[in-house]
Amino acid sequence: MAFKTLDDMDLSGKVVLTRVDVNVPVEDGRVTDTTRIDRVVPTIRDLRDAGAKVVLLAHFGRPKGQVVPEMSLRQVVPALSEVFGTEVGFVDGGYGEAVSKMSEGDVLLFENLRFNPGEEKNDEGFAKRLASVGDVYCNDAFSAAHRAHASTEALARLLPAFAGRSMQAELEALEAALGSPKPPVAALVGGAKVSTKIELLSNLVTRVQHLIIGGGMANTFLAAQGADVKRSLCEHDLLDTAREIAAKAGAEGCTILLPRDVVVAEAFEANAPNRVVKVEDVPDGHMILDAGPDSVAHIRTVLDGCATLVWNGPLGAFEIAPFDAGTVDAARHAAELTRAGKLVSVAGGGDTVSALNRAGVADDFTYISTAGGAFLEWLEGKTLPGVAALEG
Ligand code: AMP
Repeated sequence: MAFKTLDDMDLSGKVVLTRVDVNVPVEDGRVTDTTRIDRVVPTIRDLRDAGAKVVLLAHFGRPKGQVVPEMSLRQVVPALSEVFGTEVGFVDGGYGEAVSKMSEGDVLLFENLRFNPGEEKNDEGFAKRLASVGDVYCNDAFSAAHRAHASTEALARLLPAFAGRSMQAELEALEAALGSPKPPVAALVGGAKVSTKIELLSNLVTRVQHLIIGGGMANTFLAAQGADVKRSLCEHDLLDTAREIAAKAGAEGCTILLPRDVVVAEAFEANAPNRVVKVEDVPDGHMILDAGPDSVAHIRTVLDGCATLVWNGPLGAFEIAPFDAGTVDAARHAAELTRAGKLVSVAGGGDTVSALNRAGVADDFTYISTAGGAFLEWLEGKTLPGVAALEG
């Protein structure tokens, strides 16, 4: 992966068009979670220290090319100012004039780019208009990099382009996890369904030595091997797909690890009476809701022998106790190995972040990606247009 970073640029006095992801949750006009804004802080700090004039480009919600006042980025300005520790300006028109009045170190946010239909169409004309007010382009929004939009793709090709700090950290972590990882590599993939992760599983079996499958999707693999999973979540129409993935893994020398024992209950609800059974002994009327202790012990042993771990998805119905136990136990073990310097652990995608937070180990992983779609597409082995544009 070859891309420029902040360290390669002379930014003094330059207008830096900086694509950020500040699509944060807002309730009653107030930002309720600043995680995404927090991630941009190092880039803003370094750009300002370098003497740049920082113009922030971002989207908010899905206004579909129209001005929707409720989706104005104006409402995130107070949160940006507070988190960045400097007053952030805002404009919703007269962009060129506003930029011409900026001084070094100023930060100015443009209105929601998706108010313009050219943004999501990756329109060259719209990108050119944006480019005309800036000198260089910085992309710090990995989570938007799977979309070829004017501000993530076309614009990167019109100006000298580089990765911001959070984009850089993300790309370096992903490179360390799957690009050129230290072997042996394990991928732990859990979650509800095989159907949403077919491409991901097909790609991973060609890249890793151990594929650990958990969650509801493991039931489909178990059923494909002939197990009767009774009332468990299972995609019976995908048994052949599961067999194909298993065969591909075999041909690639990738071992697939499925649960040996499972926690079963008659109801999908917190504290439902439950017990541990072998996968071939799921009782009538029961459903599998978590990996059992023997399965988790097996996972721990595999992780002990690995140098790299990529994690996406929970091992069970982690939102409801006690069916979070398998996920929590495996996550804590991965965290312990990481702290001991024995494992590079990279996790991401949707529920994974909340599952690791629940285990209290989010800070102990080498890297946690909060980018849902972009992280998954990267696991699927796809080229992300926003990243390719930075490289090209
Ligand atoms: P995903 O969004 O595909 O990563 O799936 C995450 C969801 O899978 C979570 O809401 C879990 O509760 C659910 N899940 C994991 N294991 C099971 C299971 N054995 N049965 C039903 N749902 C599960």
